[in-house]
Amino acid sequence: MNPYLTAPEDLGGLLEGEPPYRADQLRHWLYQTPVVSSDRMSNLPAATRGWLERNLWPFELEIEQVADGGRTRKWLFRTADGSSIETVLMGYPNRTTLCISSQVGCAMGCTFCATGQFGFDRHLEAGEMVAQIAFANALLSETPLPGSPARVTNVVFMGMGEPLANYRRLREALRRMVEVMDISARSITVSTVGVVPGILKLADEPWAVNLAVSLHAADDRLRSSLVPLNERYPLGAVVAASNRFFESKGRRVSIEWTMIDGVNDTSDQADKLVHIAQQMRAHVNVISMNPTPLSEQRPSTEAAVERFMERLRSARVNVTRRDTRGQSIDAACGQLRLRASR
Ligand code: SAH
Ligand code: SF4
Repeated sequence: MNPYLTAPEDLGGLLEGEPPYRADQLRHWLYQTPVVSSDRMSNLPAATRGWLERNLWPFELEIEQVADGGRTRKWLFRTADGSSIETVLMGYPNRTTLCISSQVGCAMGCTFCATGQFGFDRHLEAGEMVAQIAFANALLSETPLPGSPARVTNVVFMGMGEPLANYRRLREALRRMVEVMDISARSITVSTVGVVPGILKLADEPWAVNLAVSLHAADDRLRSSLVPLNERYPLGAVVAASNRFFESKGRRVSIEWTMIDGVNDTSDQADKLVHIAQQMRAHVNVISMNPTPLSEQRPSTEAAVERFMERLRSARVNVTRRDTRGQSIDAACGQLRLRASR
Protein backbone atom coordinates (compact mmCIF):
# COMPACT_ATOMS: atom_id res chain seq x y z
CA MET A 1 0.00 0.00 0.00
CA ASN A 2 1.39 3.40 -0.92
CA PRO A 3 1.61 5.57 2.20
CA TYR A 4 -0.11 8.56 0.49
CA LEU A 5 -3.13 6.35 -0.18
CA THR A 6 -3.64 5.95 3.57
CA ALA A 7 -4.94 8.81 5.72
CA PRO A 8 -2.03 10.55 7.51
CA GLU A 9 -3.58 9.58 10.85
CA ASP A 10 -3.66 5.87 9.92
CA LEU A 11 -0.01 5.42 8.87
CA GLY A 12 0.65 3.23 11.91
CA GLY A 13 -1.34 0.49 10.19
CA LEU A 14 1.38 0.26 7.52
CA LEU A 15 4.18 -0.08 10.09
CA GLU A 16 3.41 -3.37 11.75
CA GLY A 17 5.63 -4.21 14.70
CA GLU A 18 7.08 -0.69 14.87
CA PRO A 19 6.62 1.58 17.90
CA PRO A 20 3.85 4.19 17.52
CA TYR A 21 6.20 7.18 17.16
CA ARG A 22 7.38 5.76 13.83
CA ALA A 23 4.05 6.78 12.32
CA ASP A 24 4.68 10.40 13.36
CA GLN A 25 8.16 10.27 11.86
CA LEU A 26 6.82 8.86 8.62
CA ARG A 27 4.02 11.45 8.48
CA HIS A 28 6.64 14.12 8.85
CA TRP A 29 8.65 12.78 5.91
CA LEU A 30 5.58 12.43 3.72
CA TYR A 31 3.91 15.74 4.43
CA GLN A 32 6.19 18.23 6.17
CA THR A 33 9.70 17.76 4.79
CA PRO A 34 9.37 15.40 1.84
CA VAL A 35 12.53 13.99 0.28
CA VAL A 36 12.93 12.44 -3.15
CA SER A 37 14.34 9.17 -1.87
CA SER A 38 13.87 7.28 1.38
CA ASP A 39 17.61 6.94 2.11
CA ARG A 40 17.39 10.51 3.46
CA MET A 41 14.88 9.42 6.11
CA SER A 42 17.69 8.98 8.60
CA ASN A 43 15.57 8.35 11.69
CA LEU A 44 13.70 5.38 10.18
CA PRO A 45 15.03 1.79 10.43
CA ALA A 46 16.64 0.30 7.34
CA ALA A 47 13.78 -2.15 6.72
CA THR A 48 11.20 0.66 6.61
CA ARG A 49 13.44 2.73 4.35
CA GLY A 50 13.82 -0.26 2.06
CA TRP A 51 10.08 -0.74 1.84
CA LEU A 52 9.64 2.98 1.14
CA GLU A 53 12.32 2.89 -1.54
CA ARG A 54 9.87 0.94 -3.70
CA ASN A 55 6.66 2.55 -2.41
CA LEU A 56 7.32 6.17 -1.56
CA TRP A 57 5.43 7.83 -4.43
CA PRO A 58 2.09 6.67 -5.83
CA PHE A 59 3.44 7.39 -9.33
CA GLU A 60 6.65 7.55 -11.33
CA LEU A 61 7.99 10.61 -13.05
CA GLU A 62 7.68 9.85 -16.77
CA ILE A 63 8.48 13.15 -18.47
CA GLU A 64 9.95 16.40 -17.17
CA GLN A 65 10.03 19.52 -19.28
CA VAL A 66 11.60 22.83 -18.34
CA ALA A 67 10.84 26.26 -19.81
CA ASP A 68 10.98 30.00 -19.10
CA GLY A 69 14.65 29.92 -18.10
CA GLY A 70 14.05 27.19 -15.51
CA ARG A 71 11.14 28.99 -13.85
CA THR A 72 8.53 26.55 -15.21
CA ARG A 73 8.77 22.79 -14.80
CA LYS A 74 6.15 20.44 -16.04
CA TRP A 75 5.81 16.81 -15.02
CA LEU A 76 3.91 13.89 -16.43
CA PHE A 77 3.55 11.19 -13.79
CA ARG A 78 2.49 7.64 -14.48
CA THR A 79 0.59 5.62 -11.87
CA ALA A 80 0.79 1.84 -11.41
CA ASP A 81 -2.52 1.43 -13.30
CA GLY A 82 -1.06 3.33 -16.26
CA SER A 83 -2.89 6.63 -15.65
CA SER A 84 -1.22 9.96 -16.47
CA ILE A 85 -1.14 12.89 -14.06
CA GLU A 86 0.04 16.35 -15.14
CA THR A 87 1.54 18.87 -12.74
CA VAL A 88 3.11 22.26 -13.49
CA LEU A 89 5.45 24.18 -11.16
CA MET A 90 5.82 27.92 -11.73
CA GLY A 91 8.28 30.20 -9.95
CA TYR A 92 7.63 33.90 -9.31
CA PRO A 93 9.70 36.38 -7.27
CA ASN A 94 7.74 35.86 -4.05
CA ARG A 95 5.78 32.68 -4.61
CA THR A 96 6.10 29.20 -6.00
CA THR A 97 2.83 27.99 -7.50
CA LEU A 98 1.94 24.38 -8.24
CA CYS A 99 -0.86 23.57 -10.66
CA ILE A 100 -2.23 20.12 -9.81
CA SER A 101 -4.62 17.62 -11.38
CA SER A 102 -7.71 16.24 -9.65
CA GLN A 103 -8.82 13.61 -12.19
CA VAL A 104 -7.34 11.57 -15.02
CA GLY A 105 -9.09 13.22 -17.93
CA CYS A 106 -12.37 15.08 -17.47
CA ALA A 107 -15.98 14.31 -18.30
CA MET A 108 -17.04 17.92 -18.90
CA GLY A 109 -16.09 18.12 -22.56
CA CYS A 110 -15.37 21.83 -22.90
CA THR A 111 -14.68 22.36 -26.60
CA PHE A 112 -11.38 24.26 -26.28
CA CYS A 113 -9.76 22.01 -23.65
CA ALA A 114 -7.29 19.22 -24.41
CA THR A 115 -8.26 17.34 -21.26
CA GLY A 116 -11.94 17.52 -22.18
CA GLN A 117 -11.21 16.15 -25.64
CA PHE A 118 -9.69 13.08 -24.04
CA GLY A 119 -12.73 12.14 -21.97
CA PHE A 120 -12.76 10.82 -18.43
CA ASP A 121 -10.64 7.94 -17.12
CA ARG A 122 -10.90 8.03 -13.34
CA HIS A 123 -10.85 10.20 -10.23
CA LEU A 124 -7.54 10.87 -8.50
CA GLU A 125 -7.35 9.76 -4.89
CA ALA A 126 -6.76 12.46 -2.26
CA GLY A 127 -3.27 11.00 -1.75
CA GLU A 128 -2.50 11.30 -5.47
CA MET A 129 -3.44 14.98 -5.30
CA VAL A 130 -1.31 15.80 -2.27
CA ALA A 131 1.60 13.64 -3.45
CA GLN A 132 1.95 16.04 -6.40
CA ILE A 133 2.67 18.79 -3.85
CA ALA A 134 4.95 16.61 -1.72
CA PHE A 135 6.92 15.58 -4.81
CA ALA A 136 7.37 19.22 -5.82
CA ASN A 137 8.57 20.10 -2.32
CA ALA A 138 10.99 17.18 -2.32
CA LEU A 139 12.45 18.33 -5.63
CA LEU A 140 12.54 22.00 -4.61
CA SER A 141 14.50 21.13 -1.48
CA GLU A 142 17.29 19.96 -3.81
CA THR A 143 16.87 22.30 -6.79
CA PRO A 144 14.78 25.42 -6.11
CA LEU A 145 13.50 27.44 -9.05
CA PRO A 146 15.80 30.43 -9.62
CA GLY A 147 14.70 33.40 -7.49
CA SER A 148 11.60 31.75 -5.97
CA PRO A 149 10.75 30.22 -2.58
CA ALA A 150 12.17 26.70 -2.26
CA ARG A 151 8.77 25.34 -1.26
CA VAL A 152 5.31 25.33 -2.81
CA THR A 153 3.56 28.43 -1.44
CA ASN A 154 0.43 28.37 -3.65
CA VAL A 155 -1.63 25.54 -5.07
CA VAL A 156 -4.14 25.86 -7.91
CA PHE A 157 -6.46 23.07 -9.06
CA MET A 158 -6.07 23.99 -12.72
CA GLY A 159 -4.45 20.86 -14.08
CA MET A 160 -6.45 17.99 -15.48
CA GLY A 161 -9.95 17.37 -14.25
CA GLU A 162 -12.91 19.02 -12.60
CA PRO A 163 -12.17 19.09 -8.85
CA LEU A 164 -15.78 19.63 -7.77
CA ALA A 165 -16.86 16.51 -9.70
CA ASN A 166 -14.54 14.57 -7.35
CA TYR A 167 -15.78 16.25 -4.20
CA ARG A 168 -15.15 13.68 -1.45
CA ARG A 169 -11.52 13.17 -2.46
CA LEU A 170 -10.97 16.87 -3.09
CA ARG A 171 -12.23 17.56 0.42
CA GLU A 172 -9.79 15.06 1.94
CA ALA A 173 -6.95 16.53 -0.13
CA LEU A 174 -7.79 20.04 1.11
CA ARG A 175 -7.96 18.79 4.69
CA ARG A 176 -4.48 17.23 4.43
CA MET A 177 -3.08 20.34 2.72
CA VAL A 178 -4.34 22.74 5.37
CA GLU A 179 -4.24 20.61 8.51
CA VAL A 180 -1.23 18.36 7.88
CA MET A 181 0.98 20.18 5.36
CA ASP A 182 0.33 23.64 6.87
CA ILE A 183 -0.51 25.24 3.53
CA SER A 184 -2.65 28.27 4.22
CA ALA A 185 -6.18 27.95 2.79
CA ARG A 186 -5.92 31.44 1.31
CA SER A 187 -3.09 30.31 -0.94
CA ILE A 188 -5.15 27.45 -2.40
CA THR A 189 -7.42 28.01 -5.41
CA VAL A 190 -10.09 25.54 -6.52
CA SER A 191 -11.05 26.14 -10.14
CA THR A 192 -14.41 24.89 -11.40
CA VAL A 193 -16.35 24.96 -14.62
CA GLY A 194 -19.49 25.54 -12.53
CA VAL A 195 -20.52 22.41 -10.64
CA VAL A 196 -23.13 24.19 -8.53
CA PRO A 197 -23.67 21.56 -5.78
CA GLY A 198 -19.89 21.39 -5.30
CA ILE A 199 -19.60 25.18 -4.98
CA LEU A 200 -22.33 25.14 -2.33
CA LYS A 201 -20.65 22.34 -0.38
CA LEU A 202 -17.28 24.07 -0.55
CA ALA A 203 -18.92 27.21 0.85
CA ASP A 204 -19.76 25.23 3.99
CA GLU A 205 -16.29 23.76 4.59
CA PRO A 206 -14.13 25.16 7.39
CA TRP A 207 -11.36 26.33 5.03
CA ALA A 208 -11.46 29.73 3.31
CA VAL A 209 -9.89 28.65 0.03
CA ASN A 210 -10.20 30.72 -3.14
CA LEU A 211 -12.72 29.82 -5.80
CA ALA A 212 -12.21 30.46 -9.52
CA VAL A 213 -15.15 29.89 -11.84
CA SER A 214 -14.40 29.28 -15.49
CA LEU A 215 -17.17 31.18 -17.27
CA HIS A 216 -15.76 31.85 -20.80
CA ALA A 217 -19.12 33.21 -21.94
CA ALA A 218 -21.61 35.66 -20.50
CA ASP A 219 -24.87 34.36 -21.94
CA ASP A 220 -26.35 30.88 -21.79
CA ARG A 221 -26.52 30.31 -25.53
CA LEU A 222 -22.83 30.90 -26.13
CA ARG A 223 -21.77 29.26 -22.87
CA SER A 224 -23.69 26.06 -23.62
CA SER A 225 -21.87 25.81 -26.95
CA LEU A 226 -18.47 25.96 -25.22
CA VAL A 227 -19.20 24.34 -21.86
CA PRO A 228 -21.76 21.50 -22.10
CA LEU A 229 -22.28 21.54 -18.31
CA ASN A 230 -24.02 24.90 -18.75
CA GLU A 231 -27.14 23.01 -19.89
CA ARG A 232 -27.35 21.52 -16.41
CA TYR A 233 -26.13 24.49 -14.37
CA PRO A 234 -26.79 27.67 -16.33
CA LEU A 235 -25.05 30.98 -15.69
CA GLY A 236 -27.66 32.29 -13.25
CA ALA A 237 -27.21 29.25 -11.00
CA VAL A 238 -23.41 29.47 -11.16
CA VAL A 239 -23.49 33.17 -10.29
CA ALA A 240 -25.89 32.57 -7.36
CA ALA A 241 -23.74 29.74 -5.97
CA SER A 242 -20.58 31.85 -6.34
CA ASN A 243 -22.24 34.68 -4.43
CA ARG A 244 -23.21 32.26 -1.71
CA PHE A 245 -19.55 31.16 -1.54
CA PHE A 246 -18.40 34.77 -1.25
CA GLU A 247 -20.87 35.51 1.54
CA SER A 248 -19.90 32.41 3.46
CA LYS A 249 -16.12 32.57 3.09
CA GLY A 250 -15.53 36.29 2.64
CA ARG A 251 -13.25 35.49 -0.29
CA ARG A 252 -13.90 37.17 -3.61
CA VAL A 253 -14.46 34.71 -6.43
CA SER A 254 -12.49 35.10 -9.63
CA ILE A 255 -13.87 34.59 -13.12
CA GLU A 256 -11.67 32.73 -15.63
CA TRP A 257 -12.08 33.62 -19.28
CA THR A 258 -10.17 31.76 -22.01
CA MET A 259 -10.00 34.09 -25.02
CA ILE A 260 -11.14 32.37 -28.23
CA ASP A 261 -10.82 34.17 -31.53
CA GLY A 262 -14.12 35.57 -32.79
CA VAL A 263 -16.11 33.58 -30.21
CA ASN A 264 -16.00 35.22 -26.78
CA ASP A 265 -13.75 38.24 -27.43
CA THR A 266 -16.48 40.53 -28.76
CA SER A 267 -17.67 43.83 -27.29
CA ASP A 268 -21.11 42.26 -26.75
CA GLN A 269 -19.59 39.55 -24.52
CA ALA A 270 -17.44 42.13 -22.73
CA ASP A 271 -20.53 44.20 -21.89
CA LYS A 272 -22.45 41.19 -20.62
CA LEU A 273 -19.42 40.10 -18.60
CA VAL A 274 -19.24 43.54 -16.96
CA HIS A 275 -22.76 42.99 -15.71
CA ILE A 276 -21.97 39.53 -14.28
CA ALA A 277 -18.66 40.59 -12.74
CA GLN A 278 -20.43 43.46 -10.99
CA GLN A 279 -23.13 41.13 -9.68
CA MET A 280 -20.44 38.82 -8.32
CA ARG A 281 -18.05 41.60 -7.25
CA ALA A 282 -15.51 39.40 -8.98
CA HIS A 283 -12.13 39.86 -10.53
CA VAL A 284 -11.67 38.63 -14.11
CA ASN A 285 -8.62 36.66 -15.28
CA VAL A 286 -8.29 36.44 -19.03
CA ILE A 287 -6.04 33.81 -20.53
CA SER A 288 -5.14 33.40 -24.12
CA MET A 289 -6.41 30.08 -25.45
CA ASN A 290 -3.71 27.49 -25.95
CA PRO A 291 -4.40 25.88 -29.32
CA THR A 292 -5.16 22.16 -29.02
CA PRO A 293 -4.76 19.66 -31.85
CA LEU A 294 -8.38 18.52 -31.86
CA SER A 295 -10.08 21.93 -31.82
CA GLU A 296 -10.68 24.34 -34.68
CA GLN A 297 -10.81 27.20 -32.20
CA ARG A 298 -7.90 29.63 -32.17
CA PRO A 299 -6.57 32.12 -29.62
CA SER A 300 -7.84 35.71 -29.86
CA THR A 301 -5.54 38.22 -31.50
CA GLU A 302 -3.50 40.47 -29.21
CA ALA A 303 -5.54 43.45 -30.35
CA ALA A 304 -8.79 41.69 -29.46
CA VAL A 305 -7.51 40.76 -25.99
CA GLU A 306 -6.45 44.36 -25.39
CA ARG A 307 -9.79 45.73 -26.59
CA PHE A 308 -11.71 43.26 -24.44
CA MET A 309 -9.72 44.06 -21.30
CA GLU A 310 -10.02 47.79 -21.93
CA ARG A 311 -13.78 47.51 -22.15
CA LEU A 312 -13.90 45.80 -18.75
CA ARG A 313 -11.50 48.30 -17.23
CA SER A 314 -13.48 51.27 -18.44
CA ALA A 315 -16.50 49.81 -16.60
CA ARG A 316 -14.25 49.56 -13.52
CA VAL A 317 -14.11 45.77 -13.55
CA ASN A 318 -10.87 44.44 -12.15
CA VAL A 319 -9.14 42.44 -14.88
CA THR A 320 -5.73 40.81 -15.19
CA ARG A 321 -4.11 38.63 -17.73
CA ARG A 322 -2.97 35.21 -16.60
CA ASP A 323 0.39 34.56 -18.13
CA THR A 324 0.60 31.55 -20.36
CA ARG A 325 3.59 29.88 -18.80
CA GLY A 326 5.44 27.18 -20.63
CA GLN A 327 3.67 27.39 -23.95
CA SER A 328 6.74 25.83 -25.58
CA ILE A 329 6.30 22.74 -23.39
CA ASP A 330 2.55 22.27 -23.91
CA ALA A 331 1.80 23.45 -20.39
CA ALA A 332 -1.92 23.96 -20.96
CA CYS A 333 -3.84 21.30 -19.14
CA GLY A 334 -3.98 17.91 -20.82
CA GLN A 335 -1.62 18.83 -23.60
CA LEU A 336 1.50 17.03 -22.48
CA ARG A 337 -0.52 13.85 -22.17
CA LEU A 338 -1.91 14.34 -25.66
CA ARG A 339 1.58 14.60 -27.02
CA ALA A 340 2.86 11.62 -25.02
CA SER A 341 0.08 9.45 -26.42
CA ARG A 342 0.61 10.37 -30.06
N1 SAH B 1 -11.99 21.90 -14.63
C1 SAH B 1 -11.62 23.09 -13.95
C2 SAH B 1 -10.15 23.17 -13.61
C3 SAH B 1 -9.18 22.63 -14.64
S1 SAH B 1 -9.09 23.57 -16.15
C4 SAH B 1 -12.04 24.31 -14.76
O1 SAH B 1 -12.45 24.14 -15.91
O2 SAH B 1 -12.01 25.40 -14.20
C5 SAH B 1 -8.17 24.98 -15.60
C6 SAH B 1 -8.33 26.21 -16.45
O3 SAH B 1 -7.71 25.99 -17.74
C7 SAH B 1 -9.79 26.56 -16.72
O4 SAH B 1 -10.01 27.91 -16.43
C8 SAH B 1 -9.92 26.26 -18.19
O5 SAH B 1 -10.91 27.04 -18.79
C9 SAH B 1 -8.55 26.57 -18.73
N2 SAH B 1 -8.29 25.98 -20.04
C10 SAH B 1 -8.72 24.80 -20.52
N3 SAH B 1 -8.30 24.61 -21.80
C11 SAH B 1 -7.57 25.69 -22.12
C12 SAH B 1 -6.87 26.10 -23.30
N4 SAH B 1 -6.84 25.32 -24.39
N5 SAH B 1 -6.25 27.29 -23.28
C13 SAH B 1 -6.27 28.06 -22.17
N6 SAH B 1 -6.91 27.76 -21.05
C14 SAH B 1 -7.57 26.57 -21.01
FE1 SF4 C 1 -12.75 19.71 -17.73
FE2 SF4 C 1 -11.94 22.16 -16.96
FE3 SF4 C 1 -11.15 21.07 -19.32
FE4 SF4 C 1 -13.68 21.86 -19.03
S1 SF4 C 1 -11.85 23.17 -18.97
S2 SF4 C 1 -12.99 19.93 -19.97
S3 SF4 C 1 -14.04 21.33 -16.92
S4 SF4 C 1 -10.66 20.34 -17.29
